[in-house]
Amino acid sequence: MTLLLSHLACLGHDTPPGHPERPDRLRAVATVLGEARFDALVRGEAPEGDLDVVGLCHDAHYIDELRHMAPSSGLVYIDGDTSMSPGTWEAVMRGVGGAVAATDAVMKGETTNAFVATRPPGHHAEINKPMGFCFFDNAAIAARYAQRTYGIERAAVVDFDVHHGNGTQDIFWADPTVMYCSTHQMPLFPGTGAAGERGEHDTVVNAPLHDGDGGAKFRAAFENLILPKLKKFSPELIIISAGFDAHRRDPLASLNLDAEDFGWVTRQLMDLADNTAGGRIVSVLEGGYDLQGLKESVAAHVTALMGA
Ligand SMILES: [Zn+2]
Repeated sequence: MTLLLSHLACLGHDTPPGHPERPDRLRAVATVLGEARFDALVRGEAPEGDLDVVGLCHDAHYIDELRHMAPSSGLVYIDGDTSMSPGTWEAVMRGVGGAVAATDAVMKGETTNAFVATRPPGHHAEINKPMGFCFFDNAAIAARYAQRTYGIERAAVVDFDVHHGNGTQDIFWADPTVMYCSTHQMPLFPGTGAAGERGEHDTVVNAPLHDGDGGAKFRAAFENLILPKLKKFSPELIIISAGFDAHRRDPLASLNLDAEDFGWVTRQLMDLADNTAGGRIVSVLEGGYDLQGLKESVAAHVTALMGA
């Protein structure tokens, strides 16, 4: 069984005209997952998250500062890419709450896996800094929450968004209990993610790819590096930072993946989770900025998850 969590409040995070991270992304995801082939999904609303779980990964001062930064009208710019509107805070907290609720459902065995379709994304948010459209790192919070609440010793965050998850790497850099694995285009925003960045305990696994690499090299990065590292680490829960901006249609990058590459990697991670984690996977939406590419890719990803 696959759980799908989302919330209409995530449409209320407004971004400037022409910004790629826009409400239509979530409408596109809802449209495709509304097709009859996804009727077997169990659907629920992402609840608002609690501030104390955000504190598992982010600095208390930063959380407080951000909470008071949301404007009552218009937009407040945090950096050139990242802004807050009146609806941003609730959207962000639905993202946190969705990731946590999905983790609860998976850890309690109520569902095998879950996909959390919320926005804004999270993987660029560092311990004390918003960045790259992101405010709180939902995937990282889910991993720490599972550890705190369910006594998980080892969790893994696997990130196939085309951008490096500098925030997730920052949060787990010195934490030997959470493995962070990423494929991403390099050079590209945010500039981190070189193969030599391995964390204090060799639990950061970066597999940078290059402009135009395509599906074969993406799959090879998983087969030759990430999957063997994960297998050895033996995570009891896998969180996926599911960004779909490595799709060939995406305007922000040029890794040239096809939708089926996302289906393939999802099945690889499911096989691994079957062996080490009782099949438990929580997948949270990150990037993906071409609406057609996003639809096709989400469809391939969720179809794979439903095959459990
Ligand atoms: Zn991205």
